[in-house]
Amino acid sequence: MLRTHTCGELRAAHAGTSVTLAGWVHRRRDHGGLVFVDLRDRHGITQVTFDSDVDAAAFEAAHSLGHEWVVAVDGTVSERIDANPELDTGGIEVRVSALRVLSASQVPPFEVSRELNIDENLRMQYRYLDLRRARMARNLRLRHEATSFARAFLDREAFLDVETPILTRATPEGARDYLVPSREHPGRFYALPQSPQQTKQILMVAGVDRYYQFARCFRDEDLRADRQPEFTQLDMELSFVDADDVMAINERLMLEMSAAVAPHLRFRETPFPRIPFDEAMARFGTDQPDLRYGLELVDLSAVVAGSGFKVFSGTIAKGGVVKALAVPGIFTRKQIDALEETAKQRGAAGLAWLAYEAEGVRGPIAKFLSEAEIEGMREHASIAARQAESEDGGAMLLFVAAEAAVAHAALGRLRTDLADQLALIPDGELACCWIVDAPLVEWNADEDRWDAVHHPFTAPRPEDVAGMADDPAAVRAQAYDLVCNGYEIAGGSVRIHEPELQLAAFGLLGIAPEQAEEEFGHMLEAFSYGAPPHGGIAWGWDRTVMLLAGERTIREVIAFPKTLVASDPMTGAPAPVADANLKVLGIAVRPTKDEPHAQG
Ligand code: ASP
Repeated sequence: MLRTHTCGELRAAHAGTSVTLAGWVHRRRDHGGLVFVDLRDRHGITQVTFDSDVDAAAFEAAHSLGHEWVVAVDGTVSERIDANPELDTGGIEVRVSALRVLSASQVPPFEVSRELNIDENLRMQYRYLDLRRARMARNLRLRHEATSFARAFLDREAFLDVETPILTRATPEGARDYLVPSREHPGRFYALPQSPQQTKQILMVAGVDRYYQFARCFRDEDLRADRQPEFTQLDMELSFVDADDVMAINERLMLEMSAAVAPHLRFRETPFPRIPFDEAMARFGTDQPDLRYGLELVDLSAVVAGSGFKVFSGTIAKGGVVKALAVPGIFTRKQIDALEETAKQRGAAGLAWLAYEAEGVRGPIAKFLSEAEIEGMREHASIAARQAESEDGGAMLLFVAAEAAVAHAALGRLRTDLADQLALIPDGELACCWIVDAPLVEWNADEDRWDAVHHPFTAPRPEDVAGMADDPAAVRAQAYDLVCNGYEIAGGSVRIHEPELQLAAFGLLGIAPEQAEEEFGHMLEAFSYGAPPHGGIAWGWDRTVMLLAGERTIREVIAFPKTLVASDPMTGAPAPVADANLKVLGIAVRPTKDEPHAQG
């Protein structure tokens, strides 16, 4: 070994020991006859001291050490009089008797030793330097610890880790597939898995009983949101279980893993509340509610149904709703305009408002509303409580009058924006819940058909099966999503295991029997050979680790993420390939007019 200890290891008890350390030059300070170097490796930082009186040659050489050079030093551990409480090794230093430069470094494009705002593309281009930074090194370690914990947990629960193919057939999870051309079968393509959904279900038919895998999944989606074209799922499937069983095991995993790897985080509520999908939409405007704060949507439809203000009563007469957020404090006109803009982006026609102040109630719509309506809303929306929370003693109602879906989308978005603006989000808290009873299908008006909300293999609630043909929208799925701080971190369902019901579900989704046979014949056939009832779930592992790490994007917890245009600034992927390579695949590339995504 080129070293006797790591840079995080030495303590006062080692005083007097001869050691060899190796690592990166983190910082260097020159002080007359002394040069201090903070030597860094993954394990920590140790101060190594070059003294002209101890070794003149090493002292001279130390002067030329640059940031991020890799060196080895021999020396003696010595207790420090001026201990540095910030370092685990702060009680000691190594007094150097010999220095070896193992590798020099160019001047890095950004500082590794300080937490600065660095351009993200630059960080990705020099990811090896970025990953040396304390924060990223900590995130990598946390990810490793979470993954190790989950593996050990699932091992104790009798899960088998089984690998499933990467070169496979399309499985519908609602995104576009990444395709891989086949050389052996020109004109045919493998699809990279959007998830191992079909293979894990087939593993249940194979008797595996409990499967898990840290599965890399691929979805060719627009990456505006915090998504990656390839991401990691902790994927599971279990036989002879119902929805409660799957939720119970996974809730325990979340609680125990978090306690083990991020013990400073507190859970807001345990057991995790179970919120029906419809209720989540009504209260929070989304099926991914952030429960770390209140600010729930208030339904004022009943109060204003008979209002002389036609924007409200007319909307309700057409089957819509009038819903509002009641917020503490009074916003300026400019702030309201910005909020209205957000509401409009989500489809609302506008954002009406009322300000409840000590002096009275004002707002452009106040004159159209009766005293009874204004007071009814005050009561219904608990305005007094919001006023008590505010510094100026006022409170506001922000209304959207629209069909329910639009009102929910707009107010749901405003709710999260306002929570940020009003600093309502407590630090260090995990607010988790299960969203249950989601609809099985939703109407896709563009394509004029029903789409699966989860995927076509999700089982309907048994009591809803009879109504599948007549009223598809009313059929609830045996599905469950684990939502934490407003992020869906896991989702799954009990599956259909009867071939007839699976065919009926395909039929509902507009998949004709021939097409079902062509695309999913292997599953239907497998189910005809004795399929156990089964269900499963998949965790978005990147998001889970992001929450445990307290980060705001998944790119901070992925060693080598892609940019928002799905490229890798470090390797230059995706890259062109030689014509000869395309030829053997029977592929010719048609020139495109513009190549917007050619560069990072
Ligand atoms: N395959 C699903 C997904 O990727 C998860 C599951 O149903 O287990 O979202």
